[in-house]
Amino acid sequence: MGFSTDAIHAGQEPDPSTGAVVVPIFQTSTYVQGELGKHKGYEYSRTGNPTRAALERNLAVLEGGKHALAFASGMAAINAVLTLLKAGDHVIGPEGAYGGTPRLFNAILRNFGLEFTYVDTSDPQNVAKAIRLNTRMVFLETPTNPLMKITDLAAVAQITRPRNLLLVVDNTFLSPYFQKPLQFGADIVVHSTTKYLNGHSDGVGGVAVLSREEDYTRLKFIQNAAGAILGPFDSWLVLRGVKTLAVRMRQHESNALAVALYLSKHPKVKKVFYPGLPDHPQYALARKQMTGFGGMMSFETGSFENARAVLNRARLCSLGESLGGVESLICHPATMTHAYFSEEERQRMGVTQGLVRLSVGIEDVEDILADLERALGAI
Ligand SMILES: *Cc1c(COP(=O)(O)O)cnc(C)c1O
Repeated sequence: MGFSTDAIHAGQEPDPSTGAVVVPIFQTSTYVQGELGKHKGYEYSRTGNPTRAALERNLAVLEGGKHALAFASGMAAINAVLTLLKAGDHVIGPEGAYGGTPRLFNAILRNFGLEFTYVDTSDPQNVAKAIRLNTRMVFLETPTNPLMKITDLAAVAQITRPRNLLLVVDNTFLSPYFQKPLQFGADIVVHSTTKYLNGHSDGVGGVAVLSREEDYTRLKFIQNAAGAILGPFDSWLVLRGVKTLAVRMRQHESNALAVALYLSKHPKVKKVFYPGLPDHPQYALARKQMTGFGGMMSFETGSFENARAVLNRARLCSLGESLGGVESLICHPATMTHAYFSEEERQRMGVTQGLVRLSVGIEDVEDILADLERALGAI
Protein backbone atom coordinates (compact mmCIF):
# COMPACT_ATOMS: atom_id res chain seq x y z
CA MET A 1 0.00 0.00 0.00
CA GLY A 2 1.05 3.57 -0.52
CA PHE A 3 1.96 5.90 2.34
CA SER A 4 -1.36 7.77 2.44
CA THR A 5 -3.37 4.55 2.38
CA ASP A 6 -1.30 3.14 5.24
CA ALA A 7 -1.59 6.42 7.15
CA ILE A 8 -5.38 6.14 7.01
CA HIS A 9 -5.83 2.38 7.39
CA ALA A 10 -2.82 0.59 8.89
CA GLY A 11 -3.63 -0.80 12.33
CA GLN A 12 -7.14 0.65 12.19
CA GLU A 13 -9.63 -2.02 11.16
CA PRO A 14 -13.25 -1.00 11.81
CA ASP A 15 -14.19 -1.74 15.43
CA PRO A 16 -15.32 -5.40 15.50
CA SER A 17 -18.03 -4.88 18.14
CA THR A 18 -19.83 -1.96 16.44
CA GLY A 19 -18.37 -1.40 12.97
CA ALA A 20 -17.21 2.10 13.97
CA VAL A 21 -14.94 3.33 11.17
CA VAL A 22 -12.76 5.24 13.59
CA VAL A 23 -10.84 3.44 16.33
CA PRO A 24 -12.73 4.27 19.56
CA ILE A 25 -11.11 6.03 22.50
CA PHE A 26 -10.91 3.14 24.93
CA GLN A 27 -10.91 5.35 28.01
CA THR A 28 -10.57 2.55 30.51
CA SER A 29 -7.98 1.57 33.05
CA THR A 30 -8.84 -2.11 33.25
CA TYR A 31 -10.63 -4.98 31.47
CA VAL A 32 -12.98 -7.59 32.84
CA GLN A 33 -11.60 -11.12 32.55
CA GLY A 34 -13.96 -13.94 31.55
CA GLU A 35 -12.42 -16.37 33.96
CA LEU A 36 -9.19 -16.63 35.91
CA GLY A 37 -6.26 -16.45 33.50
CA LYS A 38 -8.49 -15.79 30.42
CA HIS A 39 -8.72 -12.30 28.89
CA LYS A 40 -9.09 -10.72 25.46
CA GLY A 41 -5.50 -9.53 25.18
CA TYR A 42 -5.88 -6.59 27.55
CA GLU A 43 -5.53 -6.64 31.32
CA TYR A 44 -4.58 -3.15 32.44
CA SER A 45 -4.09 0.02 30.38
CA ARG A 46 -0.50 0.71 31.35
CA THR A 47 0.36 -2.68 29.89
CA GLY A 48 -1.90 -2.37 26.85
CA ASN A 49 -4.77 -0.26 25.53
CA PRO A 50 -6.56 -0.82 22.20
CA THR A 51 -6.40 2.84 21.11
CA ARG A 52 -2.70 3.05 21.89
CA ALA A 53 -2.14 -0.34 20.23
CA ALA A 54 -3.80 0.92 17.02
CA LEU A 55 -1.50 3.94 17.00
CA GLU A 56 1.54 1.76 17.65
CA ARG A 57 0.66 -0.57 14.75
CA ASN A 58 0.04 2.41 12.49
CA LEU A 59 3.32 4.19 13.23
CA ALA A 60 5.32 0.96 12.94
CA VAL A 61 4.00 0.54 9.40
CA LEU A 62 4.62 4.18 8.41
CA GLU A 63 8.26 4.07 9.56
CA GLY A 64 8.82 0.63 8.03
CA GLY A 65 9.57 -0.88 11.45
CA LYS A 66 8.43 -4.10 13.12
CA HIS A 67 6.92 -2.54 16.23
CA ALA A 68 6.24 0.83 17.82
CA LEU A 69 5.65 1.90 21.39
CA ALA A 70 3.89 5.16 22.29
CA PHE A 71 4.94 7.29 25.24
CA ALA A 72 3.64 10.30 27.16
CA SER A 73 5.98 12.70 25.32
CA GLY A 74 8.91 12.72 22.97
CA MET A 75 11.23 13.04 25.95
CA ALA A 76 9.56 10.06 27.66
CA ALA A 77 10.20 8.00 24.51
CA ILE A 78 13.85 9.10 24.36
CA ASN A 79 14.31 8.45 28.07
CA ALA A 80 12.82 4.95 27.73
CA VAL A 81 15.13 4.16 24.79
CA LEU A 82 18.18 5.29 26.79
CA THR A 83 17.20 2.91 29.61
CA LEU A 84 17.97 0.05 27.22
CA LEU A 85 21.53 0.85 28.34
CA LYS A 86 23.16 0.38 31.73
CA ALA A 87 25.63 2.22 33.93
CA GLY A 88 29.06 2.43 32.36
CA ASP A 89 27.76 2.51 28.77
CA HIS A 90 28.82 5.33 26.48
CA VAL A 91 26.59 7.18 24.02
CA ILE A 92 27.63 9.38 21.09
CA GLY A 93 25.11 12.16 20.73
CA PRO A 94 24.58 15.01 18.31
CA GLU A 95 25.91 18.49 18.79
CA GLY A 96 23.02 20.81 17.99
CA ALA A 97 20.09 18.59 18.87
CA TYR A 98 16.73 19.47 20.32
CA GLY A 99 17.72 21.13 23.63
CA GLY A 100 15.72 18.71 25.79
CA THR A 101 17.78 15.75 24.63
CA PRO A 102 21.21 16.83 25.99
CA ARG A 103 19.44 18.22 29.07
CA LEU A 104 18.07 14.73 29.80
CA PHE A 105 21.41 13.10 29.00
CA ASN A 106 23.62 15.48 31.02
CA ALA A 107 21.47 16.55 33.94
CA ILE A 108 19.75 13.23 34.65
CA LEU A 109 21.18 10.17 32.90
CA ARG A 110 24.80 11.03 33.73
CA ASN A 111 23.81 10.61 37.39
CA PHE A 112 23.04 6.98 36.61
CA GLY A 113 26.46 6.23 35.15
CA LEU A 114 25.79 6.73 31.43
CA GLU A 115 28.54 8.60 29.57
CA PHE A 116 27.96 11.01 26.70
CA THR A 117 30.12 12.55 24.00
CA TYR A 118 28.67 15.09 21.58
CA VAL A 119 30.00 15.43 18.05
CA ASP A 120 29.01 17.15 14.83
CA THR A 121 27.50 14.10 13.16
CA SER A 122 27.24 15.83 9.77
CA ASP A 123 30.75 14.42 9.30
CA PRO A 124 30.40 10.66 9.99
CA GLN A 125 34.13 10.46 10.71
CA ASN A 126 33.47 12.41 13.91
CA VAL A 127 31.22 9.55 15.01
CA ALA A 128 33.89 6.95 14.19
CA LYS A 129 36.53 8.90 16.08
CA ALA A 130 34.39 9.20 19.22
CA ILE A 131 33.86 5.45 19.61
CA ARG A 132 35.26 3.95 22.81
CA LEU A 133 35.41 0.41 24.13
CA ASN A 134 32.20 1.01 26.12
CA THR A 135 30.24 2.80 23.36
CA ARG A 136 26.82 1.17 22.96
CA MET A 137 24.67 3.74 21.16
CA VAL A 138 24.81 6.50 18.57
CA PHE A 139 21.93 8.94 18.84
CA LEU A 140 21.29 11.21 15.83
CA GLU A 141 18.99 13.97 14.80
CA THR A 142 18.82 14.89 11.15
CA PRO A 143 18.17 17.60 10.11
CA THR A 144 19.49 19.25 13.27
CA ASN A 145 17.64 21.87 15.22
CA PRO A 146 17.77 24.75 14.41
CA LEU A 147 20.57 24.86 11.81
CA MET A 148 19.25 22.09 9.55
CA LYS A 149 22.53 20.20 9.21
CA ILE A 150 22.13 16.77 7.63
CA THR A 151 23.76 13.54 8.77
CA ASP A 152 24.40 10.78 6.25
CA LEU A 153 22.39 7.96 7.82
CA ALA A 154 23.77 5.17 5.61
CA ALA A 155 27.34 6.29 6.31
CA VAL A 156 26.78 6.29 10.07
CA ALA A 157 25.04 2.89 9.89
CA GLN A 158 28.16 1.54 8.16
CA ILE A 159 30.08 2.59 11.26
CA THR A 160 27.59 1.32 13.86
CA ARG A 161 26.51 -1.99 12.28
CA PRO A 162 29.85 -3.89 12.29
CA ARG A 163 30.43 -2.79 15.90
CA ASN A 164 26.91 -3.75 16.99
CA LEU A 165 26.13 -0.23 18.29
CA LEU A 166 22.47 0.77 18.54
CA LEU A 167 21.72 3.51 16.02
CA VAL A 168 18.85 5.72 17.21
CA VAL A 169 17.48 8.52 15.04
CA ASP A 170 15.15 11.30 16.14
CA ASN A 171 12.99 11.75 13.01
CA THR A 172 10.69 14.44 14.43
CA PHE A 173 11.65 17.18 11.95
CA LEU A 174 10.74 15.29 8.78
CA SER A 175 8.24 12.59 9.82
CA PRO A 176 8.24 9.24 8.00
CA TYR A 177 6.63 10.96 5.02
CA PHE A 178 9.95 12.59 4.11
CA GLN A 179 12.53 10.30 5.75
CA LYS A 180 12.63 6.67 6.89
CA PRO A 181 15.85 6.15 8.88
CA LEU A 182 15.28 2.40 9.36
CA GLN A 183 15.74 1.98 5.58
CA PHE A 184 19.24 3.39 5.93
CA GLY A 185 20.26 1.06 8.73
CA ALA A 186 18.97 2.74 11.90
CA ASP A 187 17.77 0.36 14.61
CA ILE A 188 15.34 2.65 16.43
CA VAL A 189 13.47 5.78 15.34
CA VAL A 190 12.04 8.17 17.91
CA HIS A 191 9.55 10.98 17.43
CA SER A 192 7.94 13.69 19.40
CA THR A 193 4.43 13.00 18.05
CA THR A 194 3.62 16.44 19.46
CA LYS A 195 4.98 17.87 16.21
CA TYR A 196 4.16 16.73 12.65
CA LEU A 197 2.60 13.34 13.46
CA ASN A 198 -0.15 14.88 15.57
CA GLY A 199 0.19 18.04 13.56
CA HIS A 200 -2.49 20.18 15.22
CA SER A 201 -0.67 21.47 18.32
CA ASP A 202 -3.23 19.87 20.60
CA GLY A 203 -1.40 17.01 22.27
CA VAL A 204 1.99 15.99 23.64
CA GLY A 205 3.30 12.51 22.91
CA GLY A 206 6.18 10.39 21.73
CA VAL A 207 6.93 7.12 19.99
CA ALA A 208 9.81 4.72 19.48
CA VAL A 209 9.73 2.54 16.35
CA LEU A 210 11.85 -0.59 16.42
CA SER A 211 13.29 -2.82 13.76
CA ARG A 212 14.64 -5.62 15.96
CA GLU A 213 12.57 -8.05 17.99
CA GLU A 214 14.97 -8.07 20.97
CA ASP A 215 14.88 -4.26 21.32
CA TYR A 216 11.08 -4.38 21.15
CA THR A 217 10.79 -7.05 23.85
CA ARG A 218 13.00 -5.05 26.20
CA LEU A 219 11.43 -1.64 25.45
CA LYS A 220 7.92 -3.05 25.80
CA PHE A 221 8.97 -4.32 29.22
CA ILE A 222 10.35 -0.86 30.06
CA GLN A 223 7.21 0.88 28.78
CA ASN A 224 5.07 -1.20 31.12
CA ALA A 225 7.49 -1.28 34.05
CA ALA A 226 8.39 2.43 34.05
CA GLY A 227 4.92 3.42 32.86
CA ALA A 228 5.33 6.62 30.79
CA ILE A 229 2.56 5.56 28.39
CA LEU A 230 0.50 7.69 26.02
CA GLY A 231 -3.12 7.92 27.19
CA PRO A 232 -6.05 6.74 25.05
CA PHE A 233 -7.36 10.18 24.11
CA ASP A 234 -3.91 11.45 23.13
CA SER A 235 -3.30 8.26 21.15
CA TRP A 236 -6.56 8.91 19.31
CA LEU A 237 -5.56 12.50 18.52
CA VAL A 238 -2.30 11.30 16.96
CA LEU A 239 -4.15 8.60 14.98
CA ARG A 240 -6.46 11.29 13.64
CA GLY A 241 -3.58 13.64 12.86
CA VAL A 242 -1.59 11.01 11.00
CA LYS A 243 -4.44 10.43 8.52
CA THR A 244 -3.62 13.77 6.91
CA LEU A 245 0.15 13.57 7.37
CA ALA A 246 0.90 13.19 3.66
CA VAL A 247 -1.21 16.15 2.50
CA ARG A 248 -0.01 18.30 5.37
CA MET A 249 3.67 17.51 4.75
CA ARG A 250 3.35 18.32 1.05
CA GLN A 251 1.79 21.69 1.91
CA HIS A 252 4.33 22.42 4.67
CA GLU A 253 7.09 21.79 2.16
CA SER A 254 5.56 23.77 -0.66
CA ASN A 255 5.02 26.75 1.66
CA ALA A 256 8.48 26.36 3.19
CA LEU A 257 10.18 26.35 -0.21
CA ALA A 258 8.42 29.61 -1.11
CA VAL A 259 9.32 31.16 2.26
CA ALA A 260 12.98 30.02 2.02
CA LEU A 261 13.30 31.52 -1.47
CA TYR A 262 11.69 34.76 -0.31
CA LEU A 263 13.96 35.01 2.75
CA SER A 264 17.09 34.17 0.78
CA LYS A 265 16.45 37.22 -1.44
CA HIS A 266 15.49 39.57 1.39
CA PRO A 267 18.08 42.32 2.01
CA LYS A 268 17.63 42.18 5.82
CA VAL A 269 18.24 38.43 5.99
CA LYS A 270 21.91 37.43 6.17
CA LYS A 271 21.54 33.68 5.70
CA VAL A 272 18.82 31.06 5.38
CA PHE A 273 19.21 27.51 6.68
CA TYR A 274 16.90 25.23 4.71
CA PRO A 275 17.96 21.93 3.12
CA GLY A 276 15.73 22.54 0.09
CA LEU A 277 17.81 25.51 -1.08
CA PRO A 278 20.39 24.38 -3.66
CA ASP A 279 23.06 26.42 -1.86
CA HIS A 280 22.57 24.39 1.37
CA PRO A 281 26.00 22.71 1.81
CA GLN A 282 24.36 19.27 1.99
CA TYR A 283 21.66 19.72 -0.63
CA ALA A 284 22.82 16.62 -2.55
CA LEU A 285 22.77 14.44 0.58
CA ALA A 286 19.34 15.82 1.54
CA ARG A 287 18.02 14.81 -1.88
CA LYS A 288 19.55 11.36 -1.51
CA GLN A 289 18.12 10.33 1.85
CA MET A 290 15.04 12.55 2.18
CA THR A 291 12.01 12.49 -0.11
CA GLY A 292 11.23 16.10 0.78
CA PHE A 293 12.75 18.99 2.68
CA GLY A 294 10.10 19.59 5.33
CA GLY A 295 8.71 22.75 6.85
CA MET A 296 11.47 23.81 9.26
CA MET A 297 14.07 26.49 8.66
CA SER A 298 16.01 29.19 10.41
CA PHE A 299 17.47 32.49 9.29
CA GLU A 300 20.07 34.93 10.51
CA THR A 301 19.04 38.52 11.19
CA GLY A 302 22.47 39.71 12.40
CA SER A 303 21.78 40.65 16.02
CA PHE A 304 19.58 40.05 19.04
CA GLU A 305 17.89 43.43 18.48
CA ASN A 306 17.03 42.52 14.91
CA ALA A 307 15.70 39.12 15.93
CA ARG A 308 13.62 40.66 18.70
CA ALA A 309 12.18 43.27 16.35
CA VAL A 310 11.10 40.58 13.87
CA LEU A 311 9.69 38.23 16.51
CA ASN A 312 7.72 40.98 18.20
CA ARG A 313 6.17 42.26 14.99
CA ALA A 314 5.24 38.87 13.47
CA ARG A 315 1.55 38.10 14.01
CA LEU A 316 0.37 35.23 11.82
CA CYS A 317 3.68 33.51 12.54
CA SER A 318 2.97 33.19 16.25
CA LEU A 319 5.79 33.53 18.74
CA GLY A 320 6.06 30.20 20.49
CA GLU A 321 8.07 27.04 21.03
CA SER A 322 7.15 23.78 19.32
CA LEU A 323 6.81 23.08 15.62
CA GLY A 324 5.07 20.89 13.10
CA GLY A 325 1.53 22.16 13.63
CA VAL A 326 -0.76 23.48 10.92
CA GLU A 327 -0.10 27.02 12.18
CA SER A 328 3.17 28.86 11.51
CA LEU A 329 5.30 29.29 14.62
CA ILE A 330 8.33 31.51 15.00
CA CYS A 331 10.87 31.43 17.82
CA HIS A 332 14.24 32.60 19.09
CA PRO A 333 16.39 29.48 19.69
CA ALA A 334 19.06 31.26 21.77
CA THR A 335 16.60 32.31 24.50
CA MET A 336 13.86 29.71 24.00
CA THR A 337 14.55 26.18 22.69
CA HIS A 338 18.31 26.38 23.30
CA ALA A 339 18.30 28.42 26.52
CA TYR A 340 19.62 25.35 28.35
CA PHE A 341 23.05 25.73 26.70
CA SER A 342 25.71 28.22 27.77
CA GLU A 343 26.41 31.15 25.40
CA GLU A 344 29.76 29.53 24.62
CA GLU A 345 28.13 26.22 23.66
CA ARG A 346 25.58 28.05 21.51
CA GLN A 347 28.38 29.92 19.75
CA ARG A 348 30.14 26.66 18.98
CA MET A 349 26.91 25.20 17.56
CA GLY A 350 26.22 28.35 15.56
CA VAL A 351 23.05 29.24 17.44
CA THR A 352 23.57 33.01 17.41
CA GLN A 353 21.53 35.72 19.11
CA GLY A 354 20.32 36.85 15.69
CA LEU A 355 19.00 33.46 14.63
CA VAL A 356 15.25 33.04 14.15
CA ARG A 357 13.58 29.65 13.68
CA LEU A 358 10.44 29.21 11.67
CA SER A 359 8.02 26.29 11.54
CA VAL A 360 6.15 27.05 8.33
CA GLY A 361 2.48 26.16 8.67
CA ILE A 362 -0.07 25.33 6.02
CA GLU A 363 -1.90 28.65 5.93
CA ASP A 364 -2.13 30.42 2.55
CA VAL A 365 1.48 31.07 1.64
CA GLU A 366 0.72 34.66 0.53
CA ASP A 367 -0.40 35.43 4.09
CA ILE A 368 2.75 33.91 5.60
CA LEU A 369 4.94 35.90 3.20
CA ALA A 370 3.04 39.13 3.91
CA ASP A 371 3.48 38.59 7.66
CA LEU A 372 7.23 38.03 7.26
CA GLU A 373 7.51 41.10 5.03
CA ARG A 374 5.85 43.20 7.75
CA ALA A 375 7.95 41.62 10.51
CA LEU A 376 11.25 42.07 8.66
CA GLY A 377 10.28 45.71 8.12
CA ALA A 378 10.89 46.18 11.86
CA ILE A 379 14.67 45.81 11.35
C1 LIG B 1 9.89 18.49 20.63
C2 LIG B 1 11.01 17.58 20.33
C3 LIG B 1 11.39 16.59 21.23
C4 LIG B 1 10.73 16.42 22.58
O1 LIG B 1 9.40 16.03 22.46
P1 LIG B 1 8.27 16.37 23.55
O2 LIG B 1 7.05 15.76 22.95
O3 LIG B 1 8.20 17.86 23.66
O4 LIG B 1 8.68 15.74 24.83
C5 LIG B 1 12.42 15.74 20.88
N1 LIG B 1 13.07 15.88 19.69
C6 LIG B 1 12.73 16.83 18.82
C7 LIG B 1 13.49 16.94 17.53
C8 LIG B 1 11.70 17.72 19.09
O5 LIG B 1 11.39 18.67 18.23
